[in-house]
Amino acid sequence: MLFDTRKSILQEIRDEELSARGIRLLVKRDDLIHPEVSGNKWRKLRYIVEHFKQSRNERMLTFGGAYSNHLLATASVCHQLKIPAIGIVRGEELSAKANPVLTRCRELGMHLHFVTRDEYALRGMKEYHEELILEFPNSYIVPEGGANYYGMIGCQELINELPAFDHLFVAQGTAATSCGLLLGIHAQQLHVVPSIKQYDSKKEMSLLFSKSGFEMDLIEELLNSVCVHGDYHFGGYAKVTDELIDFIDDCEKKYQLPLDKVYTSKAFYGLMQEIKQPTYNHSTIVFLHTGGLFLSH
Ligand SMILES: *Cc1c(COP(=O)(O)O)cnc(C)c1O
Repeated sequence: MLFDTRKSILQEIRDEELSARGIRLLVKRDDLIHPEVSGNKWRKLRYIVEHFKQSRNERMLTFGGAYSNHLLATASVCHQLKIPAIGIVRGEELSAKANPVLTRCRELGMHLHFVTRDEYALRGMKEYHEELILEFPNSYIVPEGGANYYGMIGCQELINELPAFDHLFVAQGTAATSCGLLLGIHAQQLHVVPSIKQYDSKKEMSLLFSKSGFEMDLIEELLNSVCVHGDYHFGGYAKVTDELIDFIDDCEKKYQLPLDKVYTSKAFYGLMQEIKQPTYNHSTIVFLHTGGLFLSH
């Protein structure tokens, strides 16, 4: 069954220091849902696919960078559902041979269309979408990262799979996952760790909510439950340092927890730093492992 999330288990992190402080740390392993569909992309595509089917379009068209987990997820889901897929890829100099992500997208039958960075910058514009539809008729356009209302709603459902908790930590790219989680939580705190430098988390979340038709009052109220930890990007998007690589190795050895370099290692590092504060004593903390391990398999 497609969109089955039963493989996403809760892994308890066993650490003496944490248990001495009465902290229970659980990892929601969405990375285990599927080997090539990054966990949160799987959840985001669920209702995007439903809406696509209702729209009676013939193909799905979306956008991504050279290593986009979202492109790969879309290619994989469309392959399984026999939906023709088009990927608009940033970088006219690239080809499907450029890296294993693009190669796999092509193998899964996605048509890759490489564009310049200037053209890619138009990916959110209505006029550009109209041009794309002239070139690729009957296309259903999915925003980069699956970041729209349907994507959010798919992520909201994840909350039903969690036990009682106090804090939920998640990495941020487009903010669609964090917005969805925020819609699902009740009295808990949502901690967001952006992977992008100088990323205004609350502004991005607010924009996505307002594009989805939420009223400003409600958005402000929702955002009160968000705690932003903006200093764990390690120099910027997709940048790595030796310290980060060591941290990834340690987590694998100490906790049998595999982390990716772009999102989950940075967010989990942020969590491990932040929870040193005594305010986290005697609480249950959940870390959402959003996946991203395709290149590590
Ligand atoms: C895409 C992605 C994210 C970011 O999710 P957003 O909904 O765009 O904020 C986080 N982690 C992984 C592994 C991803 O692939």
